Amino acid sequence: MNQPIIKVGILQNQDSITFKIYGGYILNNKIKLSDRKLKVLPNGKNLILQEKNEIIYSGESLSFEPLKVNKSIEDARYKFEVENVTIGIDFHWEQKEKESFEGSFKIINKQGKLILINEIEVERYLQSVISSEMNSESPFEYLKAHSIVSRSWLLAQLENRKNAVSMEKSQVNENQKIVWYDKSEHTDFDVCADDHCQRYQGLTRLSNNLALEAVKDTSGIVLMYNDRICDARYSKSCGGITEEFQNVWQSVYYPYLKSIRDFDDKDEHLPKTEEEFEKFIKSSPEAYCNTKDESLLKKVLNEFDLITKDFYRWKIEIKQLALKTLLEMKLGIDFGEIKELIPLERGKSGRIIKLKIVGTKKEYIIGKELEIRRALSEKHLYSSAFIVEPIFKDNSEIPCKFIFYGAGWGHGVGFCQIGGAVMASKGKSFEEILKHYFPGAELRKIY
Ligand SMILES: [Zn+2]
Ligand SMILES: [Zn+2]
Repeated sequence: MNQPIIKVGILQNQDSITFKIYGGYILNNKIKLSDRKLKVLPNGKNLILQEKNEIIYSGESLSFEPLKVNKSIEDARYKFEVENVTIGIDFHWEQKEKESFEGSFKIINKQGKLILINEIEVERYLQSVISSEMNSESPFEYLKAHSIVSRSWLLAQLENRKNAVSMEKSQVNENQKIVWYDKSEHTDFDVCADDHCQRYQGLTRLSNNLALEAVKDTSGIVLMYNDRICDARYSKSCGGITEEFQNVWQSVYYPYLKSIRDFDDKDEHLPKTEEEFEKFIKSSPEAYCNTKDESLLKKVLNEFDLITKDFYRWKIEIKQLALKTLLEMKLGIDFGEIKELIPLERGKSGRIIKLKIVGTKKEYIIGKELEIRRALSEKHLYSSAFIVEPIFKDNSEIPCKFIFYGAGWGHGVGFCQIGGAVMASKGKSFEEILKHYFPGAELRKIY
């Protein structure tokens, strides 16, 4: 099997796209271009390519191929640079960057809005993803483990797309909104370049040799279960116990994503009741991802991720007015005064799957975890594993504020990134790390 080519959506929904090409590229097999700054605008169903306000080409789609003799040899002279790429869309680390990429790219017009798609070999894409997501100084076994997780996830998504697996995505009626957001929703490309899929910043952060080495060392190796590539998920910190797939996305049970205690002691009693979850979330139980080792965290997280230091156990307060305004804005529902937030169902990690919002005017149930995180925060709550405490003032029956005690960062399914890094720093191999987070899965080299 040869390695597949992947289509990555770099920009979507743009009114115009400005970019610069370096080295030689050929446009639609017709025009040679090099070292030029160009702008693309929609024109009805077509596209126009401009240089300094002068139209140099017009067509239905624009496809740029690097004029390289040998396509599989890396050559830094051939690249393109795109302005205003937003990373971390809607998350608390959202920012814009100028980024550069290699390989071919295409610009298409989708109902007057522009999309830029980069086409690149899977392994090269992974080298970039690993080095964008991971700091160059991360422990090597961790980088190797992460490479295999990312590769497995990606190839499993490509398989799903090929087999056109369509899944139920929501259960919505007047009393509830249970929705989940999975990655298979892109139609014009395989994955987007943002955290929604995997953060891909092209050549921008592709400067560290260790991440490249980790991907190269594990080239073609994936996690397999029953002869199928594992849909390997990952998030920043599980919060002490990993979550299961069906509690975050559609109701499919994957044995290799079964919930585990992120620690060595497997015999310990895990929380099941609301009281036990409260005790678990309000304490700080030992776990691989329960670390305050700043030097390790600095090595593992990219600099802007360092904004969040209290990822394992966190606490926030939301005032009554802020909460009701937020919920009205996010859900489009006027609840009146918010009386209670009741967890109806929790996953194995404590992440709330269904949350009942009780207002003076309306009761409503929301889920699953990402919808809960979006509804209760201007950006996103770190996770849906939280305990809510209403605070009352002056014998009022309406709380004046709510205190959230939370655990973990992200959905918590599969590979716990911070936990994996700590395991690696304690001398565990990538095989041991992957065996811990993906019970029963095996490693296989498929190309
Ligand atoms: Zn995406
Ligand atoms: Zn963890």
